[in-house]
Amino acid sequence: MNKIRVRFAPSPTGPLHIGGVRTALYNYLFAKKNNGTFILRIEDTDQTRYVPGAEEYIKKSLAWLGLNPEEGPDQGGEYGPYRQSERKELYGQYAKKLVDMGYAYYAFDTPDELDKWRKKMTAAGVHSPKYDHSTRMSMNNSLVLGKEKALQMIKEGVPFVVRLKVPENETIVFDDIVRGNVSFNSNELDDKVILKADGLPTYHLANIVDDYFMKITHVIRGEEWLSSTAHHVLLYRYLCWEDSMPRFAHLPLLLKPVGKGKLSKRDGAKFGFPVFPLSWESDNPEDNFIGFKEFGFLPEATINFLALLGWNPGNDEEMFELEELIKSFSLDKIVKSGARFNIDKAKWFNQQYLLKKSDEEFAELIKPWIEKEGFNFVEEDLVKIAGLMKPRIELLPEIIEKGKFFFTDDFDYDEKIVRKKWKSPNKDHVIELKGKLANLENFIKKEIENIIKGYIEDNNLSFGNIFPLLRVAVTGTTKGPDLFDTMEILGKNKVLLRFDAAFDRFESIVK
Ligand code: GLU
Repeated sequence: MNKIRVRFAPSPTGPLHIGGVRTALYNYLFAKKNNGTFILRIEDTDQTRYVPGAEEYIKKSLAWLGLNPEEGPDQGGEYGPYRQSERKELYGQYAKKLVDMGYAYYAFDTPDELDKWRKKMTAAGVHSPKYDHSTRMSMNNSLVLGKEKALQMIKEGVPFVVRLKVPENETIVFDDIVRGNVSFNSNELDDKVILKADGLPTYHLANIVDDYFMKITHVIRGEEWLSSTAHHVLLYRYLCWEDSMPRFAHLPLLLKPVGKGKLSKRDGAKFGFPVFPLSWESDNPEDNFIGFKEFGFLPEATINFLALLGWNPGNDEEMFELEELIKSFSLDKIVKSGARFNIDKAKWFNQQYLLKKSDEEFAELIKPWIEKEGFNFVEEDLVKIAGLMKPRIELLPEIIEKGKFFFTDDFDYDEKIVRKKWKSPNKDHVIELKGKLANLENFIKKEIENIIKGYIEDNNLSFGNIFPLLRVAVTGTTKGPDLFDTMEILGKNKVLLRFDAAFDRFESIVK
């Protein structure tokens, strides 16, 4: 059997949507599982939709996730170039060949004429007018004008496109790995433009020519390309490449978290979560997007989450690192129905991966967030803080909100608790306790704990009356990691200063 070769073939028309990342991932997994080759091909023939920076973004996203292509624009390879704009010469000859064989034709209808024609047809009650077998003979093309006349016009410089001549009344069938037998009636298909007026191919032609010459064995891509596949099958047939036609696997749609329809780039802003792997900045603020990375996701969690959006291992197992995914992955376990995007599940995965990190590793992960906030810290303390905070964090930036008190004295107090509890005798006990802590020579967890617990017990006090006040005084909140550990990390001086500041503030709160 031929060596398996798959390609991820994005168009650099903007940032890569998370659905595109899933396509890349499935291609990668399938290649790795089968000792095949994972190829990156940049499909940039549509100059009007080209967005600067998009190709770089795609590469960076793949690199962040560790989905490294073996062949591609940067890696090179035997079947290059891997950017369609650099393969221009190749496509024109196949468009011409198709015309010569009678499977395609030259069309001279200008965009303006087509527009008018569509309007006219719609006004006459045609729902969505198509340039197809039923209309092509009333248009301005070489089928009507005759080839000689058409060639003459081309020679004179009249702009033209090449259209595929889709046969009438034929059932086009192909076998999709995910959906089984898929069939289209050719009467539903339009005569797609395969070569544009600028001499560049459209996606359909370029894609087929490249898949053929790059010896692609499997095309794994989003469901939105399913109907184009009928055109592609025709192209393979007409070019006599049927024997090398790749197998197809169309991946299910990614659905909105709630309601109907597919997940769109605007859903990110709407629901407050990322739908792109990395942040993207554009001149138009509406097109600025936050990425999974910048939202605080780990690449391994993002991969695990995406892998299960449309594929399942056939059992209840959920945790899969890349290596395990490679072992378990198979195309026949891809589901047909749309996969609902669930950000809570994504966060859950992230937490699972964070919990696997050592304290040292976790400290390195939170460090950039803390530095970005402008907070100072002692390295050694950071590892301890990491250990305490790790179980409390789903997304990395939460370290700021949930662990602020480790890095700054500038935090708010939970006023509700203060109002409820800052009164005698509670407050006298807390003040007394502060004095005891001040006398403590060895300010370590065990000793701090002995003093506080001992005092509460010796005086027959209720924990619930004293402890929340201590916590709020030192950290501002009643939620947080072990208070004795926290105090040890903060150190005696800081804790005492915090008590003083808090006592003043508490007084004014209860006034
Ligand atoms: N350039 C197409 C895209 O942007 C590729 C589709 C395919 O994989 O054939 O998705």
